[in-house]
Amino acid sequence: MKIISDALELKTYLKTMSKRVGFVPTMGALHDGHLSLIKRAKEECAFVVVSIFVNPTQFLQGEDLESYPSRNDADLKICELSGVDVVFLPQAKDIYGEDELSIVAPNVRGFVLEGATRPGHFNGVLTVVNKLFNIVNPDFAYFGKKDAQQLNLISLMVKQLFMSVVIVPVDTVRESDGLAMSSRNIYLSKEERVKALKISTALYEATKMVGSGELDITVIKEKMLRILSPLEIGYVEILNRDFEYIREVQLSKSIILVEVLVGRTRLLDNLWI
Ligand code: AMP
Repeated sequence: MKIISDALELKTYLKTMSKRVGFVPTMGALHDGHLSLIKRAKEECAFVVVSIFVNPTQFLQGEDLESYPSRNDADLKICELSGVDVVFLPQAKDIYGEDELSIVAPNVRGFVLEGATRPGHFNGVLTVVNKLFNIVNPDFAYFGKKDAQQLNLISLMVKQLFMSVVIVPVDTVRESDGLAMSSRNIYLSKEERVKALKISTALYEATKMVGSGELDITVIKEKMLRILSPLEIGYVEILNRDFEYIREVQLSKSIILVEVLVGRTRLLDNLWI
C-alpha cells in the first residue's frame, strides 16, 4: 500500500492508471461504517484509493476541528488489511492555498437541515470533494447514506458540473444496539451513549408508524419529538429524496432525518423509507 500526501504526486501516479479506480473519502478515525465503503469499493473496482483528511473548511467557528479524533497509525493498518492500494493523507497546506475560490452549495437544498444549522458547512464539503475528485479522478466514489444531505449534494454537484465519476451510496452501518457508527461516538460518555439510543428508537418508531399506515408527517414527527425530547434537537424532518418538504410520506421516496446534540456531541442519523 502506498501512502501519498502530495496532491500532484498522487495525480501523476494515477494518471496512467488503466484499472477502474474506486475512491473512498474519509476524515479518518475509521470504523466499520468506513470499512463497508472500502469493502464495496474493493468489490467493484480493481484499484482503491482512500483519503484521510480532516477538512478544515467544513467546520464552523467553535466546532470540533481541533479535537476531531485522529488515529492515523490505526487507520493506515485498517486500510492495509482491507487491501487499499493508496491512502491519500494530505495536510491542509497540501489542499488549500491563499485566496481560495470555493464551491457554493445550492440555495435551496444546501440551506435546509444541516445547511441551516451549520451555514457554510456544505460549501466546505463540496469544495474539498471537488478537489479530491480532481486529484484522484475516480471512476466510482463511495459515500455513506448516513450523511444523506451530503450524499445528495455531492450527487447534485456531479450532475450539474458534468463530472464523470459515479457516486455509489452505501447503507448505514450500526452498532448492535442500533446506534449509527460515527467517528464522533467516542466523544460520548457512558450515560450519553445510552441517551443517544433515542435517535434510532425514534427512527424505528417512525418506520413502524409508516408500516401501520400512518403517512401524516406532522403526526409522525410529534411522536419522534416526544421520544427525542430529553435531547437537544437540531432537527427532525421527513423529506422526499430530493430534500424537498412534503406533507405525507411517499413510500420508497422519503427520508426521515434527525440531528441531535447529546451533551456536546452532534449526532446525525436517518432512515430511507
Ligand atoms: P467521515 O469520515 O465521517 O467524513 O465519513 C466518511 C464517509 O463514511 C462518508 O461518506 C460517510 O457518510 C461514511 N460513513 C460514516 N459513518 C458511516 C456509517 N455508520 N455507515 C456507513 N457509512 C458511513
